[in-house]
Amino acid sequence: MTWTSSQLLDAFLTTTSEKIIPLTAQGVASGSKVFGAAIFRKSDLSVVVVASNHETSSPLLHGEINCIQHFYALPADQRPPPKECIFFATHEPCSLCLSGITWSGFDNHYFLFTYEDTRDAFNIPHDIRILEEVFKVPTPSESSEDFAKRPLYNKSNAFWTARSVADLVGDLTGEDKQQMEDRVNKIKEDYNGLSGVYQGGKGGAGIPLA
Ligand SMILES: [Zn+2]
Repeated sequence: MTWTSSQLLDAFLTTTSEKIIPLTAQGVASGSKVFGAAIFRKSDLSVVVVASNHETSSPLLHGEINCIQHFYALPADQRPPPKECIFFATHEPCSLCLSGITWSGFDNHYFLFTYEDTRDAFNIPHDIRILEEVFKVPTPSESSEDFAKRPLYNKSNAFWTARSVADLVGDLTGEDKQQMEDRVNKIKEDYNGLSGVYQGGKGGAGIPLA
């Protein structure tokens, strides 16, 4: 089944508003970060699992990793194969989560907020920093401009293809596009509120990279 960008956006945004944000609000209230994820069946876009960040339990329990853990905790006969699923993350997955998605067998993922949003609007700079510090190796033949322009990871590779909500919105035109942009903006406002709560209590929960 191939879904249109509009159908995918509707599934992602509805699930974010109705399922991910309420869970995230609970997590943020206890000191965890604002990140969440959901896994859908490709066959009918129904939700298999939803989860939010749980870094107060372990710094590895990012929204995506927690979601993968919930997914693999389902009994095997109730769990669709990962290749028959669509993976959605509220924020562009970090290096840990990119690897988690890869190791877990998903062939796609979609995300709402970009790394730059996470750094600038959410004041959480670690995604870009880790990719630049740990993975991005300068080569002697490369100019500093070319090094700066080199992407931090490969959005289309042998394991999966990644697309942003902005990419999907960009596929639309006219009133459909406007309507979807309005829905995205409303969700961004909700996240501003959640981010304010997290930033207000940041540092108190003992998370190494807060
Ligand atoms: Zn992550």
